[in-house]
Amino acid sequence: MNSLKDTFVLSNGVKIPCVGFGTWKIPGDETVVNAVKEAIKAGYRHVDTAAIYFNEEGVGQAIKECGVPRSEIFVTSKLWNSEQGYESTLAAFDATMERLGLDYLDLYLIHWPMAKDFKDSWQTAVCETWRAFEKLYKDGRIRAIGVSNFLENHFEVLLDCCEIVPMVNQIEIHPGYNKADTVQYCHSQGIVVEAWSPLGQGKCMDNPVLKSIAAKYGKSSAQVTLRWLLQRDILPLPRSINPLHIAENADIFSFELSDEDMGRISAISAYGRLGGDPNEARF
Ligand code: NAD
Repeated sequence: MNSLKDTFVLSNGVKIPCVGFGTWKIPGDETVVNAVKEAIKAGYRHVDTAAIYFNEEGVGQAIKECGVPRSEIFVTSKLWNSEQGYESTLAAFDATMERLGLDYLDLYLIHWPMAKDFKDSWQTAVCETWRAFEKLYKDGRIRAIGVSNFLENHFEVLLDCCEIVPMVNQIEIHPGYNKADTVQYCHSQGIVVEAWSPLGQGKCMDNPVLKSIAAKYGKSSAQVTLRWLLQRDILPLPRSINPLHIAENADIFSFELSDEDMGRISAISAYGRLGGDPNEARF
């Protein structure tokens, strides 16, 4: 990968730009419009949102106003847990597209495998939801379909009932939470892995190991962290509303971490999981 416009290739041949701009927690008003425009100006061509972020309208507005053709920007959204099921997924997708104001979506993800409302029947809910995803994909309304927060036990269920294998799995990965087993499992199935909270929600930035490696390369902790992910063939989704950080997180192509430094980052033991446990149906 040599630039933000370089891509991973999904199992159906669709190309996905190698770094996505994360938008969780970015307010849906002009804050998200400005942040997404800033990211596109800095060269990002991939934006990650979700129905539960309540900012799809602003993301869509930024994409329409940014001056870059729609076809050059890769847009992901996610189905929220309460909408799982066949008919409810179809309706939720229409609502997402209405808010985005776009006529097709690049990637749609099941946000979590175990929804609180379907705690005791999550297997059926996920399979019915996926059936709707397959219909939307076959109808040409989505260029690629995938999942988020799926671990091996969730894939066992989905792979047993699906016709189309998910093309992407978006999971929490950052220093101190490597998820090497899940990454290896997904790669062996031809599934591209995306890292959410790649910067550990900002918490990793003061880590002494990262800081010393960053100093060695003349880069920041954020840059070496994102580079560590790319060198593991993982697609990071950093989030910021600060134009300096947005640009900094895009400048990760001019250096290469040695195997030793890759190993040192992988060996960081602080932090652990910061978000929800995919095997607990908490929301
Ligand atoms: P992140 O790991 O990207 O960290 C964001 C924090 O780091 C912010 O506080 C930001 O100000 C700070 N930061 C960013 N760049 C920096 C830099 N260069 N130097 C210092 N600090 C910097 O956090 P995130 O938002 O949790 O995750 C990224 C994206 O992943 C989300 O925005 C969202 O799109 C996606 N996500 C998905 C799920 C899911 O369940 N699928 C869950 C969480 C997040």
